[in-house]
Amino acid sequence: MSEAFLKVEGVSKVYPTRQGEIFAVDDVSLGLPEHGFMSLLGPSGCGKSTLLLMSAGLISRTAGTIVICGNPVERPYTDLGIVFQDANLLDWRRVIDNLLIQAEFRGLDKARLRDHGLKLLHMVGLAGYEHHYPHELSGGMRQRVSICRALVHDPPLLLMDEPFGALDALTRDQLNLDLQEIWMESRKTILFVTHSITEAVFLSDTVIVMTPQPGRVGAVVDIDLPRPREFAIRETPAFGSYTKQIRGLFETWGVLTDRGVRTTAVKRREAD
Ligand code: ADP
Ligand code: MG
Repeated sequence: MSEAFLKVEGVSKVYPTRQGEIFAVDDVSLGLPEHGFMSLLGPSGCGKSTLLLMSAGLISRTAGTIVICGNPVERPYTDLGIVFQDANLLDWRRVIDNLLIQAEFRGLDKARLRDHGLKLLHMVGLAGYEHHYPHELSGGMRQRVSICRALVHDPPLLLMDEPFGALDALTRDQLNLDLQEIWMESRKTILFVTHSITEAVFLSDTVIVMTPQPGRVGAVVDIDLPRPREFAIRETPAFGSYTKQIRGLFETWGVLTDRGVRTTAVKRREAD
């Protein structure tokens, strides 16, 4: 098998705080192939964001190595795009100028990025909105703009941290479909963080199911469903068997109660 595009090996993270050490991520290893779509799935507080930020080199690791496209990550890695739950657009800049911030930060050619930005806006159904301001857009539209901003400099890798978590269910469904299309057309490599079992199974080639804090790789579930996937696939027995399998794991770990996902309490590091 070829070398993974994003390779995480033996990575741990302990946050020192005034209240003691918080053991957030414990000995995680995973390999995301080039052009693959991998989800990190787990309950709130299991270290998903921590793992994503370490992958981008935005926070330090306590142990382990991370390599992207053969490059060890030792500082902020720039040849990628990141999308967070909040679109974080600059209110005083029009949509296209929000995209072009990448040209300014990276010293890239504005005209070239503008062309690519317009193509991306077209692709996500925002053709004609390039001169709007963020406050003139819905939450779903703003998040589409933030996806375009993450892709406008054409990075090979996209990291997404619960990008649709703040959206209503219908908008979220639509953006799941849009993201699949973007991924299939652009052939990006995507690491996607979510706490939605359905979203992870719908989008991914592989779901990394994380244990409650400290986050470990509890299971690696390969999703063998045809693409492109449509909403109806969620009603099929094959889809249901994946979600059931994953729900069963969370139940075993005491993550799911009959009231849904239980948030994990902050635990001090245990010397185990
Ligand atoms: P998730 O994204 O899965 O919800 P996080 O990676 O945000 O989880 O957090 C994992 C654990 O690390 C949580 O207990 C959280 O409180 C803690 N944590 C996250 N960031 C920090 C930080 N900067 N300082 C101290 N503790 C943190
Ligand atoms: Mg998070």
